[in-house]
Parts: sequence; structure tokens; C-alpha cells
Amino acid sequence: MSEKLANLLFPEIEHTPEYYEEKYPARKLPKGAKVTRLGPSPTGFMHLGNLYGAFVDERLAHQSNGVFYLRIEDTDDKRYVEGAVETIIRSLDYFGIHFDEGATQGEDVGNYGSYTQSQRGEIYRTFAKDLVARGHAYPCFLTEDEINEIREKQEEEKLTPGIYGDYAPSRDLSYEEVEDKIKEGKPWVLRLASTGDWSQRTDIVRKVKVKDAIRGILEIPENYHDVVILKTTGIPTYHFAHVIDDHLMRTTHVVRGAEWLPSLPIHVELFEKLGFEMPVYCHTAQLMKLDEDGNRRKLSKRKDPELSLDYYISKGYHPAAIREYLLTILNSNFEEWRMANPVEDYDKFQFTTEKMSNSGALFDLDKLNNISKDVLLGIPAEELYDFYKNWAAEFRPEIMDIFEDKDYLCKFLDLGRNDKKPRKDLVYGEQIVEFISCYFDSLLSHMEKDSLPEETEGDNIAILEKYLLTLDKNDDQSQWFDKIREIATTLGYAAKPKDYKKNPSDYKGHVGHVSTVIRIALLGRSTSPEVWTIQQIMGETKTRKRIENFIQELKK
Ligand code: GLU
Repeated sequence: MSEKLANLLFPEIEHTPEYYEEKYPARKLPKGAKVTRLGPSPTGFMHLGNLYGAFVDERLAHQSNGVFYLRIEDTDDKRYVEGAVETIIRSLDYFGIHFDEGATQGEDVGNYGSYTQSQRGEIYRTFAKDLVARGHAYPCFLTEDEINEIREKQEEEKLTPGIYGDYAPSRDLSYEEVEDKIKEGKPWVLRLASTGDWSQRTDIVRKVKVKDAIRGILEIPENYHDVVILKTTGIPTYHFAHVIDDHLMRTTHVVRGAEWLPSLPIHVELFEKLGFEMPVYCHTAQLMKLDEDGNRRKLSKRKDPELSLDYYISKGYHPAAIREYLLTILNSNFEEWRMANPVEDYDKFQFTTEKMSNSGALFDLDKLNNISKDVLLGIPAEELYDFYKNWAAEFRPEIMDIFEDKDYLCKFLDLGRNDKKPRKDLVYGEQIVEFISCYFDSLLSHMEKDSLPEETEGDNIAILEKYLLTLDKNDDQSQWFDKIREIATTLGYAAKPKDYKKNPSDYKGHVGHVSTVIRIALLGRSTSPEVWTIQQIMGETKTRKRIENFIQELKK
């Protein structure tokens, strides 16, 4: 009867599972090589969770001379967005994550395709037919109303809602009944005929053991639901597609989010009924953040723009900084390793699933920014120049003129970076543009007249005019500062801050106030790296011009 039913349901299917087993043989890889995959839905939205998982996949595969491939999981066709595959590949590529095999913008790469689920219909149906033939799956004709009725009844009886055991009426249909319904054109789904114990007696819950590389051996209750494996459209559910694809593509490690843990019992039963060996699961922790009230919560697409990968790309985060940060949240021993190996490439670090957290991984932008400062410090100015020039061409085309003089910009990028205690001013593109804007006339939009010190009121013009008179580009830093001290004392300011602090009534202020006036006149802001060095890079003409302009402003 089962065989006959299988032919009735899938008359067009000619191949057998053996055909596909032969077509997609075990991979010939070195011992211990891992095969991993990323299976994003083509929604066009790539988030931090995708990158986080992809990073695990990539490290596991490439550290073991294995294979990392891309599979497009588009069985939920409502979510398909044009150009999404390109977005997936491009955004991961930006962060240095490259696939060896799988879907691409053009033709597939590799022998285990198609790597797009919507093109694998015949494969799913072949295995579905085989399950029916072996009595492990059956067509179910329940309408939505009927399913609701069943649920209400189960709720009354305090049972878990679902289609199983005595609550799965289509299980008992005879061949003739099925044939009639199909002739009538009644829609049907294909369900797994679960052999789990559905009695829900708490004393006899049967458990199964599953190996999870992050969480250890998991003991989970067995599945007893007759879950849908093919929808009325003939399209597989996630559960079925996952099991078939990961088996036939010979995935050894399935890295996916912890949100899949509740459906793991279903996957275990499907692997068993299909007679496939199970992969090693790696259920990664959810990405969490601390909200304003200090509570941990899941990152949300609606509330947290930093969930999107585009956020980091458009803000100009350097991919090396993001990688470095992800490694610190992925592996608890990475920071220690980094301290011992400050300049080593990250791929020398031995990444392991055992060192991954299995509770929520905390994502913290401040920490990312701190890490980014250190990472950028290790990148030569010329490289930063190239990187930010590309970035600006896409995201800040209006500022491209600052890239015209490479030497000038590089000197500013390098300012203070080679000091004994190096300055760590550079964090990410947007912030860097703001930070260096004061060195470029085209970006210098505001003069912070308001932040001139109170102490120098009435003396600002005098300070600047004297400064212009004494300014000599050949002065070294101490000669230059001695002259500022002299201006200060001439005008009644202490030459040293501590003299002023001791006897405030003897002075109008101190040399620090005087130099702040100079800094604001030159740069439009009250904090910056050293003025002397900045002037050396800017050159005398520009320096004088800026100060003269500011004097004019003050005179207005
Ligand atoms: N398509 C699934 C998702 O986007 C992939 C889960 C998996 O990696 O198995 O969540």
C-alpha cells in the first residue's frame, strides 16, 4: 500500500535516493576537515548574527582545510528580495569572509548543487516519496478549520496542540480515500509519521542525545509531532530541507542560532527516518545588548540600527576591527591570545567551539570602538588612506577633495600615532572625517567662538596678533612654546598653570588659556593633537591665514 501511495502522490518522480547518494558522494577531504555552510534567506537584510555565524563557519572550515559554502534558503518565497544574493556575498566579502563553494551571483561553484533550495524541488520530492513508500510519511488533508478544532479539543484536554497520534486523522485514510480526495483536487501537505511517544505522560518522556560542539551532549525529549515536511505547494519546510541538504551536501558541522534548538528533536527524527548520519550541531548564542536600563535584551531589527551589517559598512568601520571584535566575543580566550601575540594575524589563533559561550553573547558598541582604535593603530597611514578613499567615494562623495593630497592627509592620519604613548584618535570613517575636518578648509565649517576661555576675554585679539608677530616656522617645539609663555606673561597670565593655581588673584589666567585661544583660532576647536605639529604639516601660509581670519571674525 505504501509504495502504491508513493506513486500516487509523486507520479513524476523517477529517481531514487540512491541516485542522489551517488551523484553527491562523500567528499574527499583530509582527515578532520570540516564542511560548513551559511544558509541565509534572501531577504536582502544581512545582520550581525549572520556575520557572527558565518565567522564560526569560516574559521571551522578554513582552519581544518575543509569547505565553506553558501546555500540560499529561499523556500519561503514571500521573503525573496531582488539582488539579495549579491548583498549577501558582497557584505560578507567586505568583512573578509569568502566562500569556497555554493551559490554565487552567476553560476554555482561546486559539485553539490544546486545550492538554491527553490531549485532542488525534485530532490526533496524524491526523498519524500521514499519516506511515503517506507510508511514514514503520509498526505494530510486537514483544513485550517479542522486543525483549529483539533487544537481547541487539545486545549480542553490540557494537551500540547499539534497533529500527532489520535489527533492525526489523515494517518488512517485508506489508499482509496486518499485517491478520491486527490481526484477531487483537495489540497494536502505531507507529514512525517512520527514514531515518538505522544501520550505526554511525564513519567515516560523519552529522551534522545545529540552532540553539540558548543553546548556538549544535549539530552532532549524525542519528537512526537507529525510535522509538515512538504507544504501544499510541494515546497519543503525548513526542517526537511535542512536535513536533506546538509546530508547531500555533506555538511559535517551545522552552525546555526540557538532559536533552532526547540526544533532539534524534529531534525533528529528526520535524520533517523531517512537513514542519514547526523552532522555535529553548533548552536550559537543569541546576540544580546545592554539596553538603557542595564537589562540584557536581544538585538532588534527595529530598535537597533547596529544590527545591520550595512551600518558598519556605511559608517566606515574597518573590517579588521570588526573581525577582531567578533573574535573577542566568540572565543573567551582570544583576548588573552591577542595580548601575547599583539601583531599576529588573527588566523593564527586556534578558534574552537568549546571556547564559545552558550548563553547570550553581549554585543557592545563601546567595546567595538575601543578595539577598533587599537586595530587602526596597527594599520599604516597609506593603507588607511586607500581604505577610506574607497569608503568615501561610496558614502561621502562630497568630501573627496581631502584625498587629493595623499601626503598631507597621511601626515594627519599619522599624527601622534608613533609617540611613545601613541594617540588613538581614529575609530571609524565617519568619526575620522569629523576628527580631521579641522585640517581641511573645505570641511572647516564652524569656529567655536563660544568656547574661547572666559579668562582671556578682552585679550583674544591681542594674543593672536602677538602670536602672528612671533610666529616663525623654523622654531622647534620648545622655542615655539617659550614664545607663547612670553605672550602670556606680557599680558598678565601665569607662565605655568601651577603658579596660577597657587595665586589665582595675581593673574588673569595661565598659559593654557592663552594656547587655547591659539588652538581655536587655528582649528576652530578647543581640543586637538599638538598645535605645533599641526602647524608644521599645514605650513606657514595656511596657519597665518586661518589666524588672521579668526581675528577678523573677532573684530566683527
Ligand atoms: N535559513 C535559516 C535562517 O535564515 C538558516 C538556519 C540554518 O543555518 O540552518 O535562519
